[in-house]
Amino acid sequence: MSLIVQKYGGTSVGNPERILNVARRVIATQDAGHKVVVVVSAMSGVTDSLIKLAKDVSAAPTEREMDVLLATGEQTTIALTAMAINNLGRKAISLTGAQAGIITDGVHTKAKIANLTPRKLNAYLNDGYICIVAGFQGETTDGRITTLGRGGSDLTAIAIASAVKADLCQIFTDVDGVYTCDPRVVKTARKIDAISYDEMLEMASSGSKVMQSRSVEFASKFGVVFEVRSSFNNNPGTIVKAETADMENVVIRGVSLEKNQAKITVRAVPDRPGSAAAIFNAIAAQNIIIDMIVQSASAGTSNDISFTMSRDEFPKAKAALEKVVKEIGAGGLETHEGIAKLSIIGVGMRSHGGVAAKMFEALSRGGINIEMISTSEIKTAVIIDEAKLTEAANLVHEAFGLGVV
Ligand code: ASP
Ligand code: MG
Repeated sequence: MSLIVQKYGGTSVGNPERILNVARRVIATQDAGHKVVVVVSAMSGVTDSLIKLAKDVSAAPTEREMDVLLATGEQTTIALTAMAINNLGRKAISLTGAQAGIITDGVHTKAKIANLTPRKLNAYLNDGYICIVAGFQGETTDGRITTLGRGGSDLTAIAIASAVKADLCQIFTDVDGVYTCDPRVVKTARKIDAISYDEMLEMASSGSKVMQSRSVEFASKFGVVFEVRSSFNNNPGTIVKAETADMENVVIRGVSLEKNQAKITVRAVPDRPGSAAAIFNAIAAQNIIIDMIVQSASAGTSNDISFTMSRDEFPKAKAALEKVVKEIGAGGLETHEGIAKLSIIGVGMRSHGGVAAKMFEALSRGGINIEMISTSEIKTAVIIDEAKLTEAANLVHEAFGLGVV
């Protein structure tokens, strides 16, 4: 007999019909001879409507009360799921985060799990119960309800899997797994069978967000192997695990796309200490998160500094920089709002040469201009015109042989 943790996201429990579907899946897992812990999210849309309700009664609700409110979303789902399973004749019991032994720090709305004592969980499991745990929540040592940040139910599942030493952790969602590229953009994209934690994190941070990054980091730190798969069919999903030697045989695992980016270039920045600091302090003062930064080689006494950010932040960034340009005596600003980022990711990049060349060659076949380039050990990213993103994604995906064969 093995112990399995299954997490069902908001769409998987989005209505009574789907909760019954989850109940049947869980029972099938138990019938196959396993102990089961189920972690559930709030029904889809519920967390958002709770946030809206709060705003309707208060301009600035306290974070403590926000957590009390948001935790009700998951609490609804655990009760309904347990009822559905009980109604099908099995022993199931619902547990809030606190009841499941999840202790967090006191940072309301984005608490970190500090400790997890699965004593009660283990006792119920040994008694033959299916345990249904509320995702996304915990409590502080002094008994305050906390939540773990948006998408935090994944983290609950991974943390529980680690604490109970589960044999398997399955994250059920509305997609079949992690794809080599967004299938809406690249028709030949296929599901990836296995991916390393680092690749998964790079994919997430460059646009292919299947899961909250914090959950993947936690899994990596504690060595929790998990599978991302769909609750709407029985297809095997994508296994996320520590890197194995054979993973390097595949040069590129996937292509990530990020739309809605913008670029600002500060022209002729005086080449002296403090210029870059002045530019990025002005950006930081506005709490703007920037992505790529490229500084051109010095042209005599000055150079150009370009950087990218999400397009929503662009007006704020531009306004902040207009002042700085005068203060430091730079040449001026040049902007491009309609850009996108395309990244190729794979641990195989470490041991294979010519990867960047192949990517750039593919883009050049489409007459696609590269505006910026950045690299990490397992990623090469380019900034291009957003209007060319679909064409670029297909060319690059094809060049690395990622499509369905
Ligand atoms: N219900 C929470 C959210 O919508 C947590 C989760 O779904 O993972 O962010
Ligand atoms: Mg969710």
